[in-house]
Amino acid sequence: MSVNLVKHTGGCHCGKVRFEVLAKPELRAYDCNCSICVKKGMKPFLIPKENFNLLQGEDNLSCYTYNTHQAKHFFCKTCGIHSFYTPRTSPDACGISPYCLDEGTVTKMDIIPCDAKNWEKWQQYLKENPKAADCTENTS
Ligand SMILES: [Zn+2]
Repeated sequence: MSVNLVKHTGGCHCGKVRFEVLAKPELRAYDCNCSICVKKGMKPFLIPKENFNLLQGEDNLSCYTYNTHQAKHFFCKTCGIHSFYTPRTSPDACGISPYCLDEGTVTKMDIIPCDAKNWEKWQQYLKENPKAADCTENTS
């Protein structure tokens, strides 16, 4: 594990769902053009799922799946905020909405276009850049 990880805390809008994640203070978020990210305005960053820890609200989460049902989109049953999900591209990863993190721990956020609509191309990109889907590694 790299040495410069920080603990970010975050959650949904109403506060029933709370979590913490270990990631770098500089985040790499994806401006994703898949059908669900576009509608939600989601620009997720990705971390290994062992770096995600749900602190509270498990019983207040609903899970939405569609198409291949591999991606699991969790949202709060009370306020509807979609703060994290399991991506189809990386089932061992967890995607987090950077806008659901508490203030104070993120020092920088780069937003990278993610052409998930061209699924094959995006898969190829992830294959060639295995650390692209991991905000706990130094790549830049
Ligand atoms: Zn909520």
